[in-house]
Amino acid sequence: MIDVLIVGGGGAGLRAAIAVAETDPSLRVAVVSKVYPMRSHTVSAEGGAAAVIGAGDTLDEHCYDTISGGDWLCDQDAVEAFVSEAPKELIQLEHWGCPWSRESDGRVAVRPFGGMKKMRTWYAADKTGFHLLHTLFQTTLKYQDIIRYDEWYVTKLVVDDGRVHGVVAVEIRTGRVETIPARTVVLATGGCGKVFPFTTNAAIKTGDGMALAYREGAPLKDMEFVQYHPTGLPFTGILITEAARAEGGWLINKDGYRYLQDYDLGSPTPTPKLRSMELGPRDRLSQAFVHEQEKGRTVDTPYGPVVYLDLRHLGESKIDARIPFVRELCRSYQNLDPATDLIPVRPVAHYMMGGVHTDIDGATPIAGLFAAGETACVSINGANRLGSNSLPEILVFGRRAGIAAAAFARSHAGQAEASAVRAQGADERRRLERVRGGGGHGERIADLRERMQHTLEGAAGIYRAGDVLTKAVDTLADLGERAQEARVDDSSTAFNTELISLQELHAMLEIARTVVACALNRQESRGAHQRTDFTARDDETYLAHSLVHRAPDGSPSVGLLPVTITRWPPGERVYGRD
Ligand SMILES: Cc1cc2nc3c(=O)[nH]c(=O)nc-3n(C[C@H](O)[C@H](O)[C@H](O)COP(=O)(O)OP(=O)(O)OC[C@H]3O[C@@H](n4cnc5c(N)ncnc54)[C@H](O)[C@@H]3O)c2cc1C
Repeated sequence: MIDVLIVGGGGAGLRAAIAVAETDPSLRVAVVSKVYPMRSHTVSAEGGAAAVIGAGDTLDEHCYDTISGGDWLCDQDAVEAFVSEAPKELIQLEHWGCPWSRESDGRVAVRPFGGMKKMRTWYAADKTGFHLLHTLFQTTLKYQDIIRYDEWYVTKLVVDDGRVHGVVAVEIRTGRVETIPARTVVLATGGCGKVFPFTTNAAIKTGDGMALAYREGAPLKDMEFVQYHPTGLPFTGILITEAARAEGGWLINKDGYRYLQDYDLGSPTPTPKLRSMELGPRDRLSQAFVHEQEKGRTVDTPYGPVVYLDLRHLGESKIDARIPFVRELCRSYQNLDPATDLIPVRPVAHYMMGGVHTDIDGATPIAGLFAAGETACVSINGANRLGSNSLPEILVFGRRAGIAAAAFARSHAGQAEASAVRAQGADERRRLERVRGGGGHGERIADLRERMQHTLEGAAGIYRAGDVLTKAVDTLADLGERAQEARVDDSSTAFNTELISLQELHAMLEIARTVVACALNRQESRGAHQRTDFTARDDETYLAHSLVHRAPDGSPSVGLLPVTITRWPPGERVYGRD
């Protein structure tokens, strides 16, 4: 019997695995991942990881930036724990071998980042996620006893009597379906940007973990808050990291004008200072793009309207030293050189602030089930996450969830495998075999996915309105039913990617419905959730998390949960590095 079974081999999952192995070497730990761990989305993070380091910065300031950045929807006890543990985690990574970039005198280098009033974003050039994940992966290899299920896809959590007992998973290479019994399960399955048509997220980010928990009765939290990143490459959606603006890049419209100076970015002074405006919060920058488009000041391309990111004045040597990957991406995917050319960019769906509702140790309301990383909502991101907070988040809360799961497994040792577990496993195997056997003669998976993505973009994009959201509720419910009958042509067992795609589509449809339901329920504008029919923030009613449960008929049922305020009462949202 596995003591701690971790679903996900990204940063949160691997950090949790190390925490368990270090806490109690006698526990049996396993990591299940639908891709080889180094291919998890964490690898693609570029810009950096925030943690207070130098003199002149304080933990309280990092807390305040995070809380005001999140438009007062963050739980402040979680933010305090996060901010105080983040520096220890980044130093720990250094000790495990992470090559943080350095100043010439040997100190760890930091760069500015959007919404952070002090320089506290550590980085490893602009391949921070690659080095971070590599460091964690190589560290897990020290612990020979960590069992790995690489390229296994989890389709179901086994839950009986309010307690988790393991998972059911398919080995993608062979099609073998197995029940893996476990005393505890940690979900570290990442985000679900793929519910949108245009996203920076890898194809594997389909919200599986959120759907697994939600189907078994665990609520999801704050699902309406979707972060658009202002600078994605048109067509591919590949991210041009905020580090490009942190290093001095400008955003200009079709007239070559730095248009952000015309907008209120929430900086302490009404007009942002020229040197800091490109580092305004991501939600405000993405909203400014929509207004530029309305004014006819964007440039039309076959892949939608764009503005330009201008790095030319930085010079070749700075670009190569600080943001070499930006140059590499532009050359490979856009056929241009940022040292001499303007980079076309447009806002792109990037990050879901919401996720599985957990406490500060990653525990969900289902006994023995924990969640950490992007799939969880602790919540430190509130209504709008600050860039570079997520990498330290996966470390801090990955570790916390690992330790809490280990404690749960120890105190529930020696429990026999329930017969209900075997029955649930057998049912799930039969269901998957039916699908693979060619069950379903309806529409194609890709067509349904595209409909879902466009419905979501239309209803729950940068701006939302009640009537459009109401329509989307029905459209998505209908798509959910049609997906049950989706056509599956491939009946083979080896690498049946069609079977996996269908499970991912089911998961995404569950998530898409919660996003729209929560967005409809929240009749105010806050952070990344902007309603054209309710334009003001309403603390009286909505200084609260959205908590969404799955009703017996499969529809989302939304309620509110108070936000934890410790030391920072709600105030004006003030930003900018003035
Ligand atoms: C392009 C890009 C750049 C970013 N840059 C930054 C940055 O500079 N700074 C920052 O702080 N944040 C950044 N972020 C955000 C940050 O990288 C992520 O939030 C974070 O890495 C997520 O880590 P995770 O461990 O939660 O999930 P992931 O790294 O996404 O890992 C998820 C894991 O779950 C597994 N999995 C999922 N479903 C299943 C299933 N059904 N069965 C089995 N396994 C499953 C996957 O195989 C994978 O191993 C960026 C994000 C993107 C997309």
